[in-house]
Amino acid sequence: MPTALITGITGQDGLYLAELLLAKGYEVHGVIRGQNNPRRELVERLVPDVRLHNGDLTDLSSLMRALRDSEPDEVYNLGAVSFVAYSWENAFVTSDVTGLGVLNILEAVRLHAGDDPGRIRFYQASSSEMFGKVQQVPQSEGTLLWPRSPYGVSKVYGHYMTINYRESYGMHASSGILFNHESPRRGEEFVTRKVSKAVAKIKLGMQDEIVMGNLDARRDWGFAGDYVEAMWRMLQQPEGDDYVISTGETHSIEELLTVAFTHVGITDWRSHVRQDPRFMRPAEVDLLIGDATKARTKLGWEPKVAFEELVTMMVDADVAALEAGW
Ligand code: GDP
Repeated sequence: MPTALITGITGQDGLYLAELLLAKGYEVHGVIRGQNNPRRELVERLVPDVRLHNGDLTDLSSLMRALRDSEPDEVYNLGAVSFVAYSWENAFVTSDVTGLGVLNILEAVRLHAGDDPGRIRFYQASSSEMFGKVQQVPQSEGTLLWPRSPYGVSKVYGHYMTINYRESYGMHASSGILFNHESPRRGEEFVTRKVSKAVAKIKLGMQDEIVMGNLDARRDWGFAGDYVEAMWRMLQQPEGDDYVISTGETHSIEELLTVAFTHVGITDWRSHVRQDPRFMRPAEVDLLIGDATKARTKLGWEPKVAFEELVTMMVDADVAALEAGW
């Protein structure tokens, strides 16, 4: 049975990917960062069969050790400082982890693989934030990148470094340009989860309003559970390549609010929403919409969960969790 090593195991995608690979019979290892990481308990509860290794993307020798101790056939680099708004305030940390961290893990994999650099397959979690000030609608693998945040710039670095290692060393390295993907496990700093949780609280009478930023921004939102399947499929191809993963639909924050509030029976939602410049960004990515034709034709991948189903799934999960007192 194959073995996989995942960085970012404590995040939304790491957890879904670990579940997928375990179900396929993989031996799954994860790199976990920091002393007393509060999310360790979550990983141990949700995916108890995953073997954890202490390590950090900024620490090359810890990555070398994790590779030595797990001997993976596949490495998925999902670890990153991933919140766009935070990346302006912490541009150096974001560049270190989200950018240079990719070089560290690529270098660790290359050194560990020795004479046969293609023997360990590598996945890099690239991002639609790389398109930023979009130069083409919809965005595909060939669209010029124009990142609009330190996070986006760091992801561009990781993306090109992945391509460079593929071209320079013949590594089986793939870059998945994933558009926003959400789930009930999404962090509460992201807009979908912020809305689903607040709407659940408003429905249960635990809160009265939600304070938001720009309501006109648009995103192409998919379900994280569908997107980790695409990651795995990329590494089953004969060669590494780059793929856009998206639904091809775009929705505004206003539509997100409408679907979430309507689902709990509130139609005049505007009285519950206040806008505050605190949640506005120095530069905005206005219109993200992906063209996943290549993934559809080469990987046979397509998203299963559509926007409304995704939003209502998240609201229902938050209502259930709050009712259960979690
Ligand atoms: P991102 O695409 O990785 O930045 O994902 P987010 O979920 O953090 O943000 C998606 C979009 O929602 C951005 O265009 C934000 O400007 C917009 N937005 C509007 N209000 C909020 C808010 O209160 N919180 C967050 N996180 N985003 C908001």
